[in-house]
Amino acid sequence: MSEKQMNVESFNLDHTKVKAPYVRLAGVKEGIHGDKIFKYDLRISQPNKEHMEMPALHSLEHLTAELARNHTDKILDIGPMGCQTGFYWSLINHEDYDDVLDIIEKTLKDVLEADEVPACNPTQCGWAASHSLEGAKELARDLLAKRGEWDQVFA
Ligand code: ZN
Repeated sequence: MSEKQMNVESFNLDHTKVKAPYVRLAGVKEGIHGDKIFKYDLRISQPNKEHMEMPALHSLEHLTAELARNHTDKILDIGPMGCQTGFYWSLINHEDYDDVLDIIEKTLKDVLEADEVPACNPTQCGWAASHSLEGAKELARDLLAKRGEWDQVFA
């Protein structure tokens, strides 16, 4: 593996050393007015061992994007990783790590209660055929079962 420092924070993370699931503060950016963006790495699947299937991941993205905003007004973005092993949660002016874990927990509990995937139609989504509510619930269930391990990033 290269020792060279890279521009992207997660490219400097040794993915063979982490233990999913976890929530890790991946970076903080401060704007000129003092506002701070906190970017969290919510790793769901163990890197290079497993990954989320696209329909389940996609539905979990829609569900968490919509439902998390019922618990906080600090969400900037919840974006899936291209490797399909997790999501980046970006929050503005929210430094409290434990509260972020609570927001994620509440959001995932809402996912379990959902009757449908929000906005999974060709008007509101770019790949409306690729969804699985049951798949998203399974991911949420597995994550919640390991709630006590989320603050442990490395094995
Ligand atoms: Zn979509």
